[in-house]
Amino acid sequence: MAEMLYEGKAKKVFATADPNEVVIYYKDDATALNGAKHGTIVDKGIMNNTITSFFFELLGKNGIEHHFIKKLSDREQLCKKVKIIPVEVVCRNIAAGSLAKKMGVEEGYVLHRPLVEFYYKSDALDDPMISPDYGVAFGFATDEQIAKIRDMALKINAVLKDFLAERKVRLIDFKTEYGVDSEGNVILADEITPDTARLWDWDTNEKLDKDRFRRDMGGVEEAYHEIIRRLTGEGK
Ligand code: UDP
Repeated sequence: MAEMLYEGKAKKVFATADPNEVVIYYKDDATALNGAKHGTIVDKGIMNNTITSFFFELLGKNGIEHHFIKKLSDREQLCKKVKIIPVEVVCRNIAAGSLAKKMGVEEGYVLHRPLVEFYYKSDALDDPMISPDYGVAFGFATDEQIAKIRDMALKINAVLKDFLAERKVRLIDFKTEYGVDSEGNVILADEITPDTARLWDWDTNEKLDKDRFRRDMGGVEEAYHEIIRRLTGEGK
């Protein structure tokens, strides 16, 4: 049995024979409200592995360096081992969730330009919002690394937004994480899935993401399947 290096809310990470590579296993567990709400989304691990593998391949073709090497099985992918920078980077095109609440606008308010936000990745502190300076002052990253991360988030946004628009999906917002690889490069890591991105149907604004679970709207599995169908033309 391979050594488990880490178990998070949605994934497990295992060591491999190569010290620079890990296997990431996608679970069905779903949490919301920073762990206060627990549940299972049937086959979420399988669907999210499919979706994130697809997005990372697309981003790679568009010049974004990332940790993904290949999909190994339904629930597993082989990735470069990185040291995760403990900063969650949210990029938004349209106000929803916490931003709509904070700024007192309706969900659906179109931002005048994409907005990049930084949060300190800490369950104990409920992921507080930070400015980029915090990342440097607390030694998580250098100024150059923070600037690169911001640029990468905006480039990822541009690629995904255009790609999804062609498939009648509106990219509202998404969260990314970055890591430092064995050569010291900052690369995209973690996942991009309906767990970590808000995706709305282009015509109806129907939610096709984890907000259906967070807000007890039903139709969660169907929404994830619909995203796979739009991306690949496959799925239920
Ligand atoms: N998000 C995430 N993990 C988090 C917090 C947010 O993946 O711990 C994603 C979320 O799915 C959404 C975006 O980041 O696509 C912005 O989330 P927001 O700050 O509005 O928080 P929420 O309303 O989900 O609490």
